[in-house]
Amino acid sequence: LNRRLAAFGTTIFAEMSALAARTGSINLGQGFPDTDGPAEIAEAASRAVLTGLGNQYPPGPGVPELRTAIAAHQQRFYGLGYDPDSEVLVTAGATEAIAASLLALLEPGDEVIALEPFYDSYAACIAMTGATRVPVTLRPHGDAFALDLEELRAAVTPRTRLLLLNTPHNPTGTVLTPDELAAIAALAVERDLLVVTDEVYEHLVFEGSHTPLAGFPGMRERTVTISSAGKTYSFTGWKVGWITAPPELVSAVRSAKQFLTYVSSGPFQYAIAEALHLPDAYYDAFRADLAAKRDILAGGLAAAGFQVFRPRGTYFITTDITPLGEKDGLAFCRALPERCGVVAIPNQVFYDDKSAGATQVRWAFCKRTAVLQEAVDRLGRLA
Ligand code: PMP
Ligand code: GLN
Repeated sequence: LNRRLAAFGTTIFAEMSALAARTGSINLGQGFPDTDGPAEIAEAASRAVLTGLGNQYPPGPGVPELRTAIAAHQQRFYGLGYDPDSEVLVTAGATEAIAASLLALLEPGDEVIALEPFYDSYAACIAMTGATRVPVTLRPHGDAFALDLEELRAAVTPRTRLLLLNTPHNPTGTVLTPDELAAIAALAVERDLLVVTDEVYEHLVFEGSHTPLAGFPGMRERTVTISSAGKTYSFTGWKVGWITAPPELVSAVRSAKQFLTYVSSGPFQYAIAEALHLPDAYYDAFRADLAAKRDILAGGLAAAGFQVFRPRGTYFITTDITPLGEKDGLAFCRALPERCGVVAIPNQVFYDDKSAGATQVRWAFCKRTAVLQEAVDRLGRLA
Protein backbone atom coordinates (compact mmCIF):
# COMPACT_ATOMS: atom_id res chain seq x y z
CA LEU A 1 0.00 0.00 0.00
CA ASN A 2 1.42 3.40 -0.92
CA ARG A 3 2.25 6.04 1.66
CA ARG A 4 -0.66 8.26 0.65
CA LEU A 5 -3.23 5.62 1.66
CA ALA A 6 -1.43 3.69 4.39
CA ALA A 7 -2.58 6.11 7.08
CA PHE A 8 -6.25 5.40 6.41
CA GLY A 9 -6.50 1.67 7.29
CA THR A 10 -9.95 0.07 6.99
CA THR A 11 -12.97 2.37 6.92
CA ILE A 12 -14.76 2.61 10.25
CA PHE A 13 -18.05 1.64 8.55
CA ALA A 14 -16.69 -1.76 7.51
CA GLU A 15 -15.15 -2.32 10.94
CA MET A 16 -18.30 -1.43 12.87
CA SER A 17 -20.76 -3.24 10.59
CA ALA A 18 -18.61 -6.39 10.88
CA LEU A 19 -18.62 -5.96 14.67
CA ALA A 20 -22.42 -5.64 14.64
CA ALA A 21 -22.78 -8.81 12.54
CA ARG A 22 -20.30 -10.77 14.66
CA THR A 23 -21.97 -9.85 17.96
CA GLY A 24 -25.59 -9.79 16.74
CA SER A 25 -25.87 -6.17 17.91
CA ILE A 26 -28.28 -3.47 16.76
CA ASN A 27 -26.33 -1.56 14.14
CA LEU A 28 -26.75 2.19 14.61
CA GLY A 29 -23.29 2.67 13.10
CA GLN A 30 -23.12 2.68 9.31
CA GLY A 31 -25.80 4.95 7.87
CA PHE A 32 -28.18 2.76 5.90
CA PRO A 33 -31.94 2.34 6.33
CA ASP A 34 -33.24 -1.04 7.55
CA THR A 35 -36.31 -0.63 5.33
CA ASP A 36 -35.97 -0.42 1.55
CA GLY A 37 -37.34 2.52 -0.43
CA PRO A 38 -40.70 2.64 -2.29
CA ALA A 39 -41.92 -0.70 -3.70
CA GLU A 40 -42.85 0.92 -7.02
CA ILE A 41 -39.25 2.04 -7.47
CA ALA A 42 -37.94 -1.45 -6.68
CA GLU A 43 -40.45 -2.75 -9.25
CA ALA A 44 -39.18 -0.23 -11.79
CA ALA A 45 -35.65 -1.59 -11.28
CA SER A 46 -36.82 -5.15 -11.65
CA ARG A 47 -38.79 -4.23 -14.78
CA ALA A 48 -35.71 -2.54 -16.22
CA VAL A 49 -33.63 -5.69 -15.71
CA LEU A 50 -36.30 -7.95 -17.22
CA THR A 51 -37.01 -5.75 -20.22
CA GLY A 52 -33.33 -5.21 -20.95
CA LEU A 53 -32.99 -1.56 -19.95
CA GLY A 54 -29.44 -0.86 -18.82
CA ASN A 55 -28.21 -4.45 -18.71
CA GLN A 56 -25.33 -3.46 -20.99
CA TYR A 57 -23.05 -0.46 -20.41
CA PRO A 58 -25.14 2.68 -20.17
CA PRO A 59 -23.82 5.88 -21.82
CA GLY A 60 -20.84 7.44 -20.01
CA PRO A 61 -22.68 10.51 -18.67
CA GLY A 62 -25.66 8.39 -17.49
CA VAL A 63 -28.88 7.39 -19.25
CA PRO A 64 -30.75 10.40 -20.72
CA GLU A 65 -33.92 9.58 -18.74
CA LEU A 66 -31.99 9.95 -15.47
CA ARG A 67 -30.06 13.06 -16.49
CA THR A 68 -33.31 14.72 -17.54
CA ALA A 69 -34.94 13.75 -14.24
CA ILE A 70 -31.99 15.12 -12.22
CA ALA A 71 -32.17 18.45 -14.07
CA ALA A 72 -35.96 18.55 -13.50
CA HIS A 73 -35.40 17.88 -9.77
CA GLN A 74 -32.97 20.81 -9.44
CA GLN A 75 -35.52 23.04 -11.17
CA ARG A 76 -38.49 21.78 -9.17
CA PHE A 77 -36.96 22.06 -5.71
CA TYR A 78 -34.50 24.94 -6.13
CA GLY A 79 -35.34 26.78 -9.33
CA LEU A 80 -31.86 25.95 -10.67
CA GLY A 81 -31.64 25.24 -14.40
CA TYR A 82 -29.11 22.64 -15.61
CA ASP A 83 -28.78 21.26 -19.11
CA PRO A 84 -29.22 17.46 -18.88
CA ASP A 85 -26.69 16.87 -21.67
CA SER A 86 -23.81 19.09 -20.64
CA GLU A 87 -24.37 19.90 -16.96
CA VAL A 88 -25.32 16.58 -15.33
CA LEU A 89 -23.14 13.51 -14.75
CA VAL A 90 -24.30 10.24 -13.18
CA THR A 91 -21.77 8.55 -10.87
CA ALA A 92 -21.37 5.36 -8.83
CA GLY A 93 -22.89 6.93 -5.73
CA ALA A 94 -21.82 10.21 -4.19
CA THR A 95 -18.60 8.42 -3.24
CA GLU A 96 -17.41 8.31 -6.84
CA ALA A 97 -18.64 11.85 -7.42
CA ILE A 98 -16.41 13.03 -4.57
CA ALA A 99 -13.41 11.03 -5.77
CA ALA A 100 -13.76 12.01 -9.43
CA SER A 101 -14.33 15.70 -8.60
CA LEU A 102 -11.23 15.90 -6.42
CA LEU A 103 -9.08 13.87 -8.83
CA ALA A 104 -10.18 16.05 -11.72
CA LEU A 105 -9.85 19.46 -10.09
CA LEU A 106 -6.80 19.28 -7.81
CA GLU A 107 -3.07 19.43 -8.46
CA PRO A 108 -0.50 18.06 -6.00
CA GLY A 109 0.33 20.86 -3.57
CA ASP A 110 -3.08 22.55 -3.81
CA GLU A 111 -4.88 23.18 -0.54
CA VAL A 112 -8.45 22.03 0.04
CA ILE A 113 -10.51 23.40 2.89
CA ALA A 114 -12.99 20.92 4.38
CA LEU A 115 -15.35 21.19 7.33
CA GLU A 116 -14.14 18.93 10.13
CA PRO A 117 -15.35 16.42 11.28
CA PHE A 118 -15.47 15.16 7.69
CA TYR A 119 -16.99 12.12 6.04
CA ASP A 120 -14.14 9.64 5.85
CA SER A 121 -13.72 9.45 2.09
CA TYR A 122 -12.88 13.17 1.88
CA ALA A 123 -9.51 12.86 3.60
CA ALA A 124 -8.59 9.70 1.71
CA CYS A 125 -9.55 11.15 -1.69
CA ILE A 126 -7.71 14.40 -1.06
CA ALA A 127 -4.67 12.33 -0.08
CA MET A 128 -4.93 10.34 -3.34
CA THR A 129 -4.71 13.58 -5.33
CA GLY A 130 -1.55 14.72 -3.55
CA ALA A 131 -3.29 17.91 -2.37
CA THR A 132 -3.27 19.05 1.25
CA ARG A 133 -6.38 19.17 3.38
CA VAL A 134 -6.93 22.15 5.63
CA PRO A 135 -9.63 21.43 8.20
CA VAL A 136 -11.96 24.07 9.56
CA THR A 137 -13.54 22.57 12.64
CA LEU A 138 -17.24 22.77 13.53
CA ARG A 139 -17.36 23.26 17.28
CA PRO A 140 -20.00 22.39 19.89
CA HIS A 141 -22.20 25.38 20.61
CA GLY A 142 -25.29 24.86 22.77
CA ASP A 143 -27.17 21.81 21.48
CA ALA A 144 -25.57 22.00 18.02
CA PHE A 145 -22.31 22.59 16.19
CA ALA A 146 -21.28 25.92 14.73
CA LEU A 147 -19.05 27.06 11.88
CA ASP A 148 -16.74 29.99 12.66
CA LEU A 149 -16.80 32.06 9.46
CA GLU A 150 -13.72 34.02 10.54
CA GLU A 151 -11.81 30.78 10.95
CA LEU A 152 -12.93 29.73 7.48
CA ARG A 153 -11.83 33.03 6.00
CA ALA A 154 -8.45 32.80 7.77
CA ALA A 155 -7.88 29.28 6.40
CA VAL A 156 -7.81 30.54 2.79
CA THR A 157 -4.28 31.01 1.44
CA PRO A 158 -2.91 31.72 -2.05
CA ARG A 159 -2.62 27.93 -2.47
CA THR A 160 -6.27 27.23 -1.68
CA ARG A 161 -7.90 25.79 -4.77
CA LEU A 162 -11.13 24.34 -3.51
CA LEU A 163 -13.70 24.35 -0.71
CA LEU A 164 -15.21 20.95 0.05
CA LEU A 165 -18.50 21.53 1.82
CA ASN A 166 -21.16 19.24 3.21
CA THR A 167 -24.61 20.44 4.22
CA PRO A 168 -26.64 18.89 5.82
CA HIS A 169 -23.49 17.71 7.55
CA ASN A 170 -22.49 14.16 8.38
CA PRO A 171 -21.78 13.39 11.26
CA THR A 172 -22.91 16.47 13.23
CA GLY A 173 -26.34 17.05 11.65
CA THR A 174 -25.48 20.72 11.12
CA VAL A 175 -27.42 22.53 8.40
CA LEU A 176 -25.62 25.66 7.22
CA THR A 177 -27.98 28.64 7.29
CA PRO A 178 -28.67 30.80 4.22
CA ASP A 179 -26.60 33.56 5.88
CA GLU A 180 -23.64 31.23 6.40
CA LEU A 181 -23.95 29.97 2.83
CA ALA A 182 -24.06 33.54 1.53
CA ALA A 183 -20.86 34.35 3.43
CA ILE A 184 -19.16 31.20 2.12
CA ALA A 185 -20.28 32.08 -1.41
CA ALA A 186 -18.91 35.63 -1.10
CA LEU A 187 -15.59 34.24 0.12
CA ALA A 188 -15.40 31.76 -2.76
CA VAL A 189 -16.06 34.53 -5.28
CA GLU A 190 -13.62 36.95 -3.63
CA ARG A 191 -10.80 34.38 -3.51
CA ASP A 192 -11.79 32.71 -6.79
CA LEU A 193 -12.19 29.23 -5.31
CA LEU A 194 -13.86 26.18 -6.77
CA VAL A 195 -16.49 24.60 -4.54
CA VAL A 196 -17.51 20.95 -4.30
CA THR A 197 -20.62 20.69 -2.16
CA ASP A 198 -21.88 17.34 -0.90
CA GLU A 199 -25.63 17.69 -0.47
CA VAL A 200 -26.61 14.01 -0.23
CA TYR A 201 -28.92 14.74 2.72
CA GLU A 202 -30.74 17.54 0.86
CA HIS A 203 -34.15 15.97 1.56
CA LEU A 204 -33.43 15.39 5.25
CA VAL A 205 -33.71 18.86 6.73
CA PHE A 206 -36.03 18.93 9.73
CA GLU A 207 -36.32 22.66 10.30
CA GLY A 208 -36.74 24.93 7.30
CA SER A 209 -35.61 23.52 3.98
CA HIS A 210 -32.39 22.81 2.14
CA THR A 211 -30.63 25.72 0.43
CA PRO A 212 -28.19 24.71 -2.29
CA LEU A 213 -24.95 26.65 -2.40
CA ALA A 214 -25.06 26.77 -6.20
CA GLY A 215 -27.99 29.21 -6.01
CA PHE A 216 -25.95 32.10 -4.55
CA PRO A 217 -24.54 34.90 -6.74
CA GLY A 218 -21.38 33.89 -8.54
CA MET A 219 -21.65 30.28 -7.44
CA ARG A 220 -23.29 28.44 -10.29
CA GLU A 221 -20.18 28.73 -12.48
CA ARG A 222 -17.75 27.52 -9.79
CA THR A 223 -19.75 24.85 -7.97
CA VAL A 224 -19.97 21.08 -8.35
CA THR A 225 -23.07 19.91 -6.45
CA ILE A 226 -23.17 16.26 -5.42
CA SER A 227 -26.18 14.19 -4.43
CA SER A 228 -27.19 10.55 -4.20
CA ALA A 229 -30.31 8.43 -4.61
CA GLY A 230 -29.07 6.19 -1.81
CA LYS A 231 -30.09 8.66 0.89
CA THR A 232 -33.20 10.23 -0.64
CA TYR A 233 -34.87 7.00 -1.79
CA SER A 234 -33.40 4.49 0.69
CA PHE A 235 -31.57 2.35 -1.84
CA THR A 236 -27.97 2.75 -0.66
CA GLY A 237 -26.86 -0.47 -2.36
CA TRP A 238 -27.80 0.74 -5.83
CA LYS A 239 -25.02 3.34 -5.82
CA VAL A 240 -26.66 5.90 -8.05
CA GLY A 241 -25.22 9.37 -7.45
CA TRP A 242 -24.70 12.46 -9.58
CA ILE A 243 -23.21 15.88 -9.98
CA THR A 244 -24.69 19.04 -11.43
CA ALA A 245 -22.19 21.70 -12.53
CA PRO A 246 -21.37 23.99 -15.45
CA PRO A 247 -20.18 22.23 -18.65
CA GLU A 248 -16.41 22.73 -18.13
CA LEU A 249 -16.57 21.25 -14.62
CA VAL A 250 -18.79 18.34 -15.67
CA SER A 251 -16.41 17.61 -18.49
CA ALA A 252 -13.41 17.69 -16.12
CA VAL A 253 -15.09 15.36 -13.62
CA ARG A 254 -16.11 13.02 -16.44
CA SER A 255 -12.45 12.79 -17.50
CA ALA A 256 -11.64 11.24 -14.10
CA LYS A 257 -14.85 9.23 -13.76
CA GLN A 258 -14.39 7.44 -17.11
CA PHE A 259 -11.25 5.76 -15.75
CA LEU A 260 -12.68 4.92 -12.31
CA THR A 261 -15.87 2.99 -13.05
CA TYR A 262 -16.57 4.22 -16.60
CA VAL A 263 -20.28 3.56 -15.88
CA SER A 264 -22.39 1.76 -13.27
CA SER A 265 -25.86 0.73 -12.06
CA GLY A 266 -27.52 0.52 -15.55
CA PRO A 267 -31.04 -0.72 -14.66
CA PHE A 268 -31.06 1.21 -11.40
CA GLN A 269 -30.52 4.44 -13.30
CA TYR A 270 -33.92 3.97 -14.99
CA ALA A 271 -35.60 3.26 -11.65
CA ILE A 272 -34.09 6.34 -10.01
CA ALA A 273 -35.25 8.44 -12.97
CA GLU A 274 -38.78 7.44 -11.88
CA ALA A 275 -38.02 8.07 -8.20
CA LEU A 276 -36.98 11.65 -8.93
CA HIS A 277 -40.52 12.32 -10.15
CA LEU A 278 -42.20 11.09 -6.94
CA PRO A 279 -44.76 13.62 -5.65
CA ASP A 280 -44.04 16.03 -2.78
CA ALA A 281 -46.00 13.73 -0.47
CA TYR A 282 -43.18 11.17 -0.70
CA TYR A 283 -40.54 13.63 0.45
CA ASP A 284 -42.78 15.05 3.19
CA ALA A 285 -43.58 11.61 4.59
CA PHE A 286 -39.94 10.50 4.44
CA ARG A 287 -38.81 13.57 6.36
CA ALA A 288 -41.63 13.35 8.93
CA ASP A 289 -40.88 9.67 9.57
CA LEU A 290 -37.20 10.40 10.18
CA ALA A 291 -37.96 13.44 12.35
CA ALA A 292 -40.05 11.20 14.63
CA LYS A 293 -37.24 8.65 14.74
CA ARG A 294 -34.72 11.33 15.55
CA ASP A 295 -36.85 12.32 18.53
CA ILE A 296 -37.09 8.74 19.81
CA LEU A 297 -33.36 8.18 19.63
CA ALA A 298 -32.42 11.65 20.90
CA GLY A 299 -34.75 11.20 23.88
CA GLY A 300 -33.34 7.76 24.64
CA LEU A 301 -29.75 8.90 24.40
CA ALA A 302 -30.41 11.86 26.69
CA ALA A 303 -32.16 9.59 29.19
CA ALA A 304 -29.18 7.23 29.08
CA GLY A 305 -26.94 10.12 30.12
CA PHE A 306 -25.34 11.23 26.85
CA GLN A 307 -24.95 14.86 25.90
CA VAL A 308 -27.06 15.07 22.74
CA PHE A 309 -26.46 17.48 19.86
CA ARG A 310 -29.77 17.93 18.11
CA PRO A 311 -29.39 17.32 14.37
CA ARG A 312 -31.13 19.83 12.08
CA GLY A 313 -30.62 17.44 9.18
CA THR A 314 -29.21 14.01 8.10
CA TYR A 315 -30.08 10.75 9.82
CA PHE A 316 -27.34 10.91 12.43
CA ILE A 317 -27.12 12.12 16.01
CA THR A 318 -23.77 13.10 17.48
CA THR A 319 -23.44 12.73 21.25
CA ASP A 320 -20.73 13.36 23.78
CA ILE A 321 -19.87 10.50 26.15
CA THR A 322 -18.14 12.63 28.79
CA PRO A 323 -21.20 12.70 31.13
CA LEU A 324 -20.98 8.88 31.27
CA GLY A 325 -17.45 9.15 32.62
CA GLU A 326 -16.02 7.99 29.27
CA LYS A 327 -12.99 9.56 27.58
CA ASP A 328 -12.32 7.63 24.40
CA GLY A 329 -15.07 7.19 21.81
CA LEU A 330 -13.21 4.53 19.83
CA ALA A 331 -12.69 2.33 22.89
CA PHE A 332 -16.29 3.02 23.95
CA CYS A 333 -17.67 1.95 20.53
CA ARG A 334 -15.51 -1.17 20.42
CA ALA A 335 -16.77 -2.21 23.88
CA LEU A 336 -20.42 -1.21 23.41
CA PRO A 337 -21.64 -4.45 21.72
CA GLU A 338 -20.33 -6.44 24.66
CA ARG A 339 -21.82 -4.04 27.18
CA CYS A 340 -25.28 -3.62 25.70
CA GLY A 341 -25.60 -5.02 22.15
CA VAL A 342 -25.54 -1.73 20.22
CA VAL A 343 -23.06 -0.46 17.60
CA ALA A 344 -22.21 3.23 16.98
CA ILE A 345 -19.46 5.21 15.23
CA PRO A 346 -16.66 7.09 17.01
CA ASN A 347 -16.45 10.56 15.44
CA GLN A 348 -12.70 10.83 16.10
CA VAL A 349 -12.09 8.99 12.82
CA PHE A 350 -13.60 12.03 11.06
CA TYR A 351 -11.01 14.41 12.56
CA ASP A 352 -7.40 15.16 11.68
CA ASP A 353 -7.01 16.25 15.27
CA LYS A 354 -8.21 13.06 16.99
CA SER A 355 -8.33 14.78 20.37
CA ALA A 356 -10.96 17.23 19.08
CA GLY A 357 -13.50 14.46 18.51
CA ALA A 358 -12.26 11.98 21.12
CA THR A 359 -15.46 11.93 23.15
CA GLN A 360 -17.99 12.19 20.31
CA VAL A 361 -20.04 9.20 19.18
CA ARG A 362 -22.49 9.08 16.25
CA TRP A 363 -25.76 7.12 16.09
CA ALA A 364 -27.90 6.48 12.97
CA PHE A 365 -31.67 6.70 13.36
CA CYS A 366 -32.72 5.50 9.87
CA LYS A 367 -34.04 2.31 11.47
CA ARG A 368 -37.48 0.84 12.22
CA THR A 369 -39.16 2.36 15.28
CA ALA A 370 -39.18 -0.98 17.14
CA VAL A 371 -35.43 -1.32 16.52
CA LEU A 372 -34.78 2.18 17.85
CA GLN A 373 -36.93 1.49 20.90
CA GLU A 374 -35.02 -1.71 21.61
CA ALA A 375 -31.71 0.17 21.21
CA VAL A 376 -32.94 2.85 23.60
CA ASP A 377 -33.93 0.16 26.16
CA ARG A 378 -30.49 -1.40 25.89
CA LEU A 379 -28.69 1.95 26.18
CA GLY A 380 -30.82 2.74 29.25
CA ARG A 381 -29.21 -0.23 30.99
CA LEU A 382 -25.69 1.09 30.30
CA ALA A 383 -25.12 3.08 33.45
N1 PMP B 1 -21.27 11.90 1.41
C1 PMP B 1 -21.79 11.83 2.64
C2 PMP B 1 -21.77 13.04 3.52
C3 PMP B 1 -22.35 10.63 3.08
O1 PMP B 1 -22.85 10.54 4.30
C4 PMP B 1 -22.37 9.52 2.21
C5 PMP B 1 -22.99 8.22 2.61
N2 PMP B 1 -22.67 7.76 3.84
C6 PMP B 1 -21.80 9.64 0.96
C7 PMP B 1 -21.26 10.85 0.59
C8 PMP B 1 -21.71 8.50 0.01
O2 PMP B 1 -22.89 8.31 -0.69
P1 PMP B 1 -23.09 7.07 -1.68
O3 PMP B 1 -23.53 5.93 -0.86
O4 PMP B 1 -24.11 7.55 -2.65
O5 PMP B 1 -21.78 6.79 -2.34
N1 GLN C 1 -22.60 7.28 4.45
C1 GLN C 1 -22.77 6.28 5.45
C2 GLN C 1 -22.35 6.75 6.82
O1 GLN C 1 -21.84 7.82 7.01
C3 GLN C 1 -22.03 5.00 5.14
C4 GLN C 1 -21.07 5.06 4.03
C5 GLN C 1 -20.14 3.92 3.91
O2 GLN C 1 -20.34 2.84 4.43
N2 GLN C 1 -19.07 4.16 3.23
O3 GLN C 1 -22.56 5.99 7.72
